[in-house]
Amino acid sequence: MVSAESLPDTSFICRECNLLVDLSRLVDGKRAECPRCGCVLSVRRPRANQRLMVFALSGLICLAASTVFDFIQLSAAGMGRELTLPQTISVLFSLQEWALAAFMGVVVLGLPFAFLIALGSLALSLELGRAGPFSFVLLRFVTFLRMWNMAEIFFLGILVSMVKIADMAEVALGPSFWFYAMFNLFLILALSHVDQYQLGLGIRRILAAQEREREQLAQERTA
Ligand SMILES: [Zn+2]
Repeated sequence: MVSAESLPDTSFICRECNLLVDLSRLVDGKRAECPRCGCVLSVRRPRANQRLMVFALSGLICLAASTVFDFIQLSAAGMGRELTLPQTISVLFSLQEWALAAFMGVVVLGLPFAFLIALGSLALSLELGRAGPFSFVLLRFVTFLRMWNMAEIFFLGILVSMVKIADMAEVALGPSFWFYAMFNLFLILALSHVDQYQLGLGIRRILAAQEREREQLAQERTA
């Protein structure tokens, strides 16, 4: 099997149809599509790493803030209850809905945190011109988690359930709800900017530059 790391700098395998495509003529501001299936392979955006860092960091701040304040306030028949996002998970645990609670914890908080931290670290390391074999592991992790992101589906689910319970109880949205909405916005922006080809190319170019530097140093020592 051909690994992404062993391919020439400008080749990329289409994730839809496995066609090996040469992207050497891709210029700034343009996007490359697979000639066989039309899937978008890569987009060369100016300052792509800086954008990724901003989206990942902003998303992380909003996600962290969404766990601190009230997420939702419910009141019915003179009784009121405020819930934070972690409390919604602990309530499910107390109701012995283990699978749902674990699913919520992983999908709503765990995966998005892991994805944004990995993506932000990768973009920062490329921006600083630092890379190592671990960078490819991070890239694989990012592209894997990208497929499992379901935070916006959860968010849509909340909106639908709110419409449904509005007849039975008074529902008010807490600050955390808006932080989670903003987190979703930054997550969508970050996801739309994740470009496996460009990130992989960035890593290979830094590794090649490091290799040239090492060879130069070795030559200077022997001279
Ligand atoms: Zn294709």
